[in-house]
Amino acid sequence: MEILDLLDEIIKIIKDFIREIFDYDVKKDRKKEIIEIKKEMGEIKKERVEIIEKKDEIKMTEVKTFKDLENEVIKPKICASCGGCVSICAINNINAIKMKNGTPEFIESDEQICLECGLCYHFCPRTTSLNTQLTEAYACKDPVGSYKKLTWAQTTDPEILKVCQDGGIVTSLVKYLLDTKKVDGAIVNIATSNWKSFPTIVTSSDQLLKSAGTRYSITSSLNIFKNPKIASSPDKYDDVDIPSIIELLELSDFDYARLAFVGCPCHVTAVRKMQVRKIRPANTIKYVIGLFCMENFTYTDLMKKMFEQKLNLSVDNIKKVNIKKNFLITLKDDTVKEVPMKEVEGAIRSNCLFCPDFSNVYADISVGGIAAPQNHSTVFIRTEQGEQLFAKALSEGFIAEYRATPENISKLRERSLKIINRMSNVKTERASKNLQETKR
Ligand SMILES: Cc1cc2nc3c(=O)[nH]c(=O)nc-3n(C[C@H](O)[C@H](O)[C@H](O)COP(=O)(O)OP(=O)(O)OC[C@H]3O[C@@H](n4cnc5c(N)ncnc54)[C@H](O)[C@@H]3O)c2cc1C
Ligand code: SF4
Ligand code: SF4
Ligand code: SF4
Repeated sequence: MEILDLLDEIIKIIKDFIREIFDYDVKKDRKKEIIEIKKEMGEIKKERVEIIEKKDEIKMTEVKTFKDLENEVIKPKICASCGGCVSICAINNINAIKMKNGTPEFIESDEQICLECGLCYHFCPRTTSLNTQLTEAYACKDPVGSYKKLTWAQTTDPEILKVCQDGGIVTSLVKYLLDTKKVDGAIVNIATSNWKSFPTIVTSSDQLLKSAGTRYSITSSLNIFKNPKIASSPDKYDDVDIPSIIELLELSDFDYARLAFVGCPCHVTAVRKMQVRKIRPANTIKYVIGLFCMENFTYTDLMKKMFEQKLNLSVDNIKKVNIKKNFLITLKDDTVKEVPMKEVEGAIRSNCLFCPDFSNVYADISVGGIAAPQNHSTVFIRTEQGEQLFAKALSEGFIAEYRATPENISKLRERSLKIINRMSNVKTERASKNLQETKR
């Protein structure tokens, strides 16, 4: 017994030692990053001082604030409900705004708290602010965005395959990151039994399994930084304060956290806008896995009015909802109801019709179901970070690439690109036409 205790003690010392080295390296790298962030913030401050000095000439009209966001984005109903404005205000300790029923608003109309700093406007995915920097940083020439490789893949995990939406690639990539401790946690979306969905931070692959599959309802994923929900066990989700995330991650400073983020193009655009300025909370996000998204739906209109009232389906009895050519609703007894897209069009969230990005052009890796072989995902590997992640997940057996003859792969690539290009163009043109109409 004593020998076993001694052995335990030695193992503990070795683990602590390895952790020390690991933490040291992470902290060393992060310190370098923080110096960069401080330099960057210094530049922004300098820009601001210059603006303030010239304020009589330019009448400060350049610094747009939450009031402008209300007038230009929220009131005209083009807000994506991403939660980006609220997260940036909260995490910088200002806390002037909150999300209420998917809409950002002043907390108890107390506009006095607002510093008129303009951060919320600056990083909103629906304003044009920082668009040039994003296009340059991600070398986006056309609506499909830049990419290193287009491929098709499937999870190797039978448990994920049972519950995922298409090929289970998103869940498997996040699982790889969590299992190999490349991240401390991942911001994903989890559904309740009645198909309402909310963002959650998961820290283990047991909790992660609950996020697999698609919920066609809007989620303010970035609101997680204001109202964090942690999956404390596979079946329990707790509201926590931001310091609890720090405790949970056992990190001395929030800036040391390393998170993965899964989201629709609207969420990812907000994250990337913050990242080009190296600003909290996006500086904690190390890997961005984006979903393709043509449009999203209003929960009540889709689930209550369409499924329950019109189609006489009980929401509790639905196992999976997928959109291919038509709307496919799989029930718990595995029967599939096919509903023409036209019939559910009324439930589309009108704000989504102002959104230009289909294939998630700013993600490290973008994943969709369109144009993929059965039970596979279509994958755009876009950045170096994405390339390394995909290659590692592949070589360590978390995912497998679709195999076919070179001739068939080439045909599949041609066909897929044609479809994704078409969808991307339709979405971009739809958004620009609708935006022009609101300006009239
Ligand atoms: C609203 C919406 C519309 C979409 N439209 C299209 C489309 O038109 N064409 C197309 O090819 N693909 C579309 N997708 C993507 C597709 O449904 C799959 O998410 C994608 O193919 C990945 O499949 P997978 O099996 O690899 O993912 P899984 O392994 O099943 O993982 C799914 C991931 O999606 C996240 N998620 C689920 N619901 C939401 C939500 N509401 N908001 C944010 N994150 C969520 C979960 O966190 C999870 O990490 C859409 C996804 C969403 C959420
Ligand atoms: S304080 Fe800044 S970030 Fe917060 S609402 Fe006001 S302008 Fe927006
Ligand atoms: S940041 Fe997101 S939630 Fe806030 S106004 Fe813009 S789109 Fe809406
Ligand atoms: S279409 Fe998709 S990406 Fe665009 S705002 Fe709606 S949910 Fe977000």
